[in-house]
Amino acid sequence: MTEKQYGGQTKINRNKGTKAKNIEQPKKTIKILQKRKRENSEKISEMNDEEKIIEAGKIASKVKKYAKDIIKKGVPLLEIAEKIEEKIIEFGGKPAFPTNLGINDVTAHYTPSYDDKTTASGLLKVDLGVHIDGWIADSAFSVDLENDEENKKLIKASENAVETAIKMIKYQTTLGEIGGAIQNEIESEGFYPITNLSGHMIKQYELHAGITIPNVKNSSEIKLEEGIYAIEPFITKGSGKVYDGKPSEIYLLSNYKNVRSPIAREVLQYIIEEYRTLPFCSRWIVKKFGTKALFGLKELENNGNFHHYNQLIESSHNKVAQSEQTILLKKDKKIITTLS
Ligand code: MN
Ligand code: MN
Repeated sequence: MTEKQYGGQTKINRNKGTKAKNIEQPKKTIKILQKRKRENSEKISEMNDEEKIIEAGKIASKVKKYAKDIIKKGVPLLEIAEKIEEKIIEFGGKPAFPTNLGINDVTAHYTPSYDDKTTASGLLKVDLGVHIDGWIADSAFSVDLENDEENKKLIKASENAVETAIKMIKYQTTLGEIGGAIQNEIESEGFYPITNLSGHMIKQYELHAGITIPNVKNSSEIKLEEGIYAIEPFITKGSGKVYDGKPSEIYLLSNYKNVRSPIAREVLQYIIEEYRTLPFCSRWIVKKFGTKALFGLKELENNGNFHHYNQLIESSHNKVAQSEQTILLKKDKKIITTLS
C-alpha cells in the first residue's frame, strides 16, 4: 500500500449471513499443505527479527512470481486477490494488508469486496504485503493486459525509477536526494510522478511509520537512518495527482473503544487479535464471520474505531503504473528484501 502525503507524517492518529466458500481441495493436497505450514512455522519460530524481515521479503518475491503466472485478462480480481493471499499463508507468512489491485487510473487502495465481479484488464497494479510476526515486506508491480505500447513504457519507467532509487539509497541519504533522483528518472522517460503519493518507513506491525519517502524533487535534509523503507514511485502521463475516491472497505484499527452489539464486539476482538495495527478489509471479515459481520463493521466505523481508506484515483483519469520494493537499511549494508 502507499502513503498519501500529509506533510511528511501519516494523518492516522494511533492512540497507542452467507459465508464465502473455500475452494475444495483434495485430501492429499490438504495434507501436503498442512505439512508445509508446520515446517514453515517451526523454521520461523527460531528466527530473529532481521531474519523474519528477510524471510517476509523472500515470500513476497515468490508470491509476485506466482501472481504474474495466474494474472490474465478476464480473471476476476477477487480470485487473484484470494489466490495471492492463500499463497502468502502457504509459504509461511500472513498478508500484511489486503492485496491492492488497481486498474488504469485506480492508483491505489482498491481491494475486491467479497462479492466483487470486476475482472482484470488494462494496466493492472498489484500491491501485496507479507508479514511474519509484524515484520513487513511491501511490494508492488504492474502488468499490461492489453498488449499496449504505452502501458509497457509506463511500467518500464516505474521499474527504472524504483531501481534508480534503490541503487542510490544508503545510510544517511537525504529525502531530497531520493525524491530528486526518482523524479529525474521518470521525467527522462517522458512521464510524471504522482506527486501526492510516497514511499514510507515501516516498523513492526506499522505499515506507514514515521517518515515518508517522496517521489518528487524537494529540499528535505532529513537523512535515512537504519530501518525498513518501502520505495514506491507511481507514474503517469496525466496530471500526476490522486484524489480520494470511494471508500475502499480497507480499514485500520485506530481506537479500541467499546461497542454495543455482540457481532460488533466479536469482530472487534478478532481484529485486535488477528490484525492488530495492520490494515484489513471487509472481505476478510466476511470470510471469517459471514455477511452478518458487515453490520458489525458498519457499527464499529460509526463508533469511530476505524480509519477507513479511500480509493485513490488519478485526477485526469490517466493510467498509472506502480513499482515497489522494500529495503532493510543498515549502517554498513542494505538488503532489498523483496528482490531475493
Ligand atoms: Mn507501500
Ligand atoms: Mn505497497
